[in-house]
Amino acid sequence: MNTTNQLKKSSGISRRHFLASSGLATAAMCFAPRRLFAEYVSPVLIIREAAATAQITVTKLRGNVSVLEGSGGNIAVLTGRDGKLLVEAGITGTRKRITEALASLSPEPVKHLINTHWHFDHTDGNEWLHSEGAEITAHENTRKHLMVDTRVEGWKFTFPASPVGALPTKLFKTDYKLDINGTTLALKYYPPAHTDSDISVEFTDADILHVADTCWNGYYPFIDYSTGGSIDGSIRAAEANVARVTSKTIIIPGHGPIANKQQLIEFRDMLMGVRDKVADLKKQGRSLDEVVEAKPTADYDAKWGGFVIDGGTFASLVYQGV
Ligand SMILES: [Zn+2]
Repeated sequence: MNTTNQLKKSSGISRRHFLASSGLATAAMCFAPRRLFAEYVSPVLIIREAAATAQITVTKLRGNVSVLEGSGGNIAVLTGRDGKLLVEAGITGTRKRITEALASLSPEPVKHLINTHWHFDHTDGNEWLHSEGAEITAHENTRKHLMVDTRVEGWKFTFPASPVGALPTKLFKTDYKLDINGTTLALKYYPPAHTDSDISVEFTDADILHVADTCWNGYYPFIDYSTGGSIDGSIRAAEANVARVTSKTIIIPGHGPIANKQQLIEFRDMLMGVRDKVADLKKQGRSLDEVVEAKPTADYDAKWGGFVIDGGTFASLVYQGV
């Protein structure tokens, strides 16, 4: 199989389209835009460029929890007298507008930062947030990947080791509880799913759950096989999310608009449906190219394929894991 040729073959999103849409939706990083590969332009560089002009929207959710959308993965913000707590660090190029958005919520500084996993679009801002006083909490595998040069084949990019100031220093393995600003946060590790470093962050009093990149609301997700992700792990995480929430829970997905339980169910069902179709074709002995040609995602593309990962790219990600 030749993934790169497969990627080059069909027309991917254009650079212009990507730049235009990346400010709106935040599925900016975790994707494999095929035409970009053909031109040897790293998606990481494109994201950084787009982040320089990205607009940030601020939405109050419940209690003292808000969400900032527009710079990498969705950023949850908890305000209060202990200082702000952020879940996700955004992209450094958007620092000025993130700072303005945070100031619009309340005056206190950012004291705490949680990374839901190691990917660049969730950790890029670690260094500047830490320099302003934020202590960084994450799963131990997030630190492990950030500490060394890390290759992501799906992006055709090797991330250099992060500077010391960007590394999480409060680490955990399975569960971690924090009491801040009069409320409790429950951090929980997912067994390997999108990567091997994914965690959820629950604001227990407000009944809000940040599910990291285990849900892309309305988009096909990236799956990072290079650092422990898989389609089956992604499905297990999606099932765990559905089992865990009620119809009242507010869900912050890694990418895409704020979600509810029904949308978690639809995301899980899409993952399972595509997996079944791709696995059937692969079992028949079909090559990657033949599986993509057979359009196993056809029933789903109108709803899920409208942004950075189209059906063919997602089918090839699933193919790797079945
Ligand atoms: Zn990610």
